[in-house]
Amino acid sequence: MNAKQINSFRKQLVNEIARLSLNQAMAEMRLAGDAETASDIIDKAALEERINFAFRMRERERLLSRKIKRALVRIEEGTFGICQGCGEDIPIARLKARPVTDYCLDCKTRMEARERAFESGRMGVLEAG
Ligand SMILES: [Zn+2]
Repeated sequence: MNAKQINSFRKQLVNEIARLSLNQAMAEMRLAGDAETASDIIDKAALEERINFAFRMRERERLLSRKIKRALVRIEEGTFGICQGCGEDIPIARLKARPVTDYCLDCKTRMEARERAFESGRMGVLEAG
């Protein structure tokens, strides 16, 4: 990967972090506005639901911004775009679609298959218990 490509990924990642924080700030402002105007019980129930949704979104966005920060660290360390599983270069097309990825598609697929096997194994135990 050349310096120009690295720079464009860095820009993309930084923009994504900015977008996430802006989203979050706006969601909180909207909720605060709703909380002020929610008067009857139905409003409050709907508000509660939206707050729960906002919390789940926030959790997801927090995870994503952590991944983005890790990707930015990898750019600084010079390991960005290298698969953490096999040490091979991750194809540019995959990085463009998912710049926060740590793994090439092969390793990711293998890991997910293992996770699924683990999950179903655990489910089996739960069902047996
Ligand atoms: Zn790999």
